[in-house]
Amino acid sequence: MRLVDTHAHIYLEEFEKDREGVLQRAEKEGVEKIFLPAIDSTTHEQMLKLEAEHPGQCISMMGLHPCYVKENYEAELKIVEDYLAKRSFAAIGEIGLDFYWDKTFTELQYKAFHRQIEWAMHYDIPIAIHSRNATDECIEVVAGHQNGRLKGVFHCFSGYANQAKKITDLGFYLGIGGVVTFKNSGLDKAIEDISLDQLLLETDAPYLAPVPFRGKQNEPSYLKYVLEKIAMTKRCTIEEVAAVTTDNALKLFNASK
Ligand SMILES: [Zn+2]
Repeated sequence: MRLVDTHAHIYLEEFEKDREGVLQRAEKEGVEKIFLPAIDSTTHEQMLKLEAEHPGQCISMMGLHPCYVKENYEAELKIVEDYLAKRSFAAIGEIGLDFYWDKTFTELQYKAFHRQIEWAMHYDIPIAIHSRNATDECIEVVAGHQNGRLKGVFHCFSGYANQAKKITDLGFYLGIGGVVTFKNSGLDKAIEDISLDQLLLETDAPYLAPVPFRGKQNEPSYLKYVLEKIAMTKRCTIEEVAAVTTDNALKLFNASK
């Protein structure tokens, strides 16, 4: 069984002590590729270093995370823009809107989101969207840009069935992680009518560990718990979920097998 973790921040210092162990356990569970979403310039180098040390296994995106959009966002975006001009990336991410913690920079978050979407269309690469407390707003932004060529994923999707439908109607994937295993999350219901062809697996490590590790530090090897829950929800085998979601991920990120 081959799996892809489409969203994990294993370059962060939380993994400093046991990064090789984390990668070995992932491999043992069949997680062949791990996509690394960028945050901001304080961690770009760590991310690229991990990618260079594990070519083909750890694959970088590039972008400015909405929670890190503040007064200096123009300088941060310039750094992203320069990286994009220098080499190829699997995606622009994570980008989007986050109205959970702080609404001070709402307007700047919108500006950064729009600009990074334009870059994704220019380079013809997908986007990985972070949409905390802002799913409808992110859907609206994507809809405004969608000319049939924009592609990507709503990472850590945890919305409602009607939002899931709107997102997949826009040609976007839903990134499903540990939340689907949480009791009463309702996420299993929300994706009941969504085809496997429109789902991606992710951990969002080190955050949002699935049951039975809820509250602990998450890592890519825990992807199997998300896989099992999706198979249960969709009433199919884990092998089927693995095969389809892995194909989806490789196709979206234009990654080789
Ligand atoms: Zn993330």
